[in-house]
Amino acid sequence: MDSSPPSRTCSRNIEELASNQSLQTGTALSVKDLNVSYFIGSKDLLPACRNVQFDTRVGESVGLLGESGAGKSTVAYAVMGLIEPPNKATGEIIYGGKNVLAMSQDELRSFRWNEVAMIFQAAMNSLDPIVTVGKNMDELVLDKGVVQNKQEARELSKKLLATVDLSEDVYKMYPFELSGGMKQRVIISMALATNPKILILDEPTTALDTITQFSVLSTIKSLKNEGRVGGLLLISHDISVQAFMVDRILIMLKGLVVEDAPIKTVMESAKHPYTQVLTEKLRLTLQKDRSQVHQLPQ
Ligand code: ADP
Ligand code: MG
Repeated sequence: MDSSPPSRTCSRNIEELASNQSLQTGTALSVKDLNVSYFIGSKDLLPACRNVQFDTRVGESVGLLGESGAGKSTVAYAVMGLIEPPNKATGEIIYGGKNVLAMSQDELRSFRWNEVAMIFQAAMNSLDPIVTVGKNMDELVLDKGVVQNKQEARELSKKLLATVDLSEDVYKMYPFELSGGMKQRVIISMALATNPKILILDEPTTALDTITQFSVLSTIKSLKNEGRVGGLLLISHDISVQAFMVDRILIMLKGLVVEDAPIKTVMESAKHPYTQVLTEKLRLTLQKDRSQVHQLPQ
């Protein structure tokens, strides 16, 4: 991998992606009959997701919504090939003609980050607090082999900061000097270092206030529109976040996908009672917000 700016390498990656044999149908990721169970002692297995089935198309933004414990993160972990014994994942997760669940450790190493990257829940707290943001970033890009030496790492890290609208000064700062929104931007920029074709974001803005949430989500949208990332798999329990971000949404309830439809269809005529409650609640909140805006002094 070279160290050229993400803007150039990303468009190249998307071309590569489109020419990939298994992607000629437009399918990027195909999850078939996925079942994941966690080992919870003696012989007991806790089923966390059951018969999950969905496809994502190249360049598509897909949302995964459901309440806490529904199995959203579990699906994402399975897609990354991170469910390990004694936990159990069965079914197929097809990417580029290969089943992620059957990949060797070597195959997984090149698949993760380069093909599909994931920003884990609360990842912004994972920056090493005793070194600068720049050192955190330089170490990652060197470790992932994106660059060959410290000079190249410095250059790339500064470019990556610029892609998420952070100034070069942030490079020299320590994590504790950054707001939550700034830390999350740093994490997003790091995930883009390898130009992943799909980026999985697990509750990326849950810990942020509303205004910061909106600005971080807008940045993610711009990065996608600019082709710096191919497709998104966005995990969020917040339907307003999903409505703002995704093309299609999967609704999870107790380990099952109970609805899978374009976000527009779901917002207009949700099928499942759980989704109907969520969309109705959002409509009422928006109505209330609108009337409050009218009452603001001019
Ligand atoms: P979500 O992301 O929707 O909140 P998770 O995928 O984290 O849900 O969890 C789904 C279910 O699996 C929950 O009941 C949770 O307690 C359980 N679970 C998640 N991770 C583990 C684990 N490592 N070991 C045992 N149970 C787990
Ligand atoms: Mg989760």
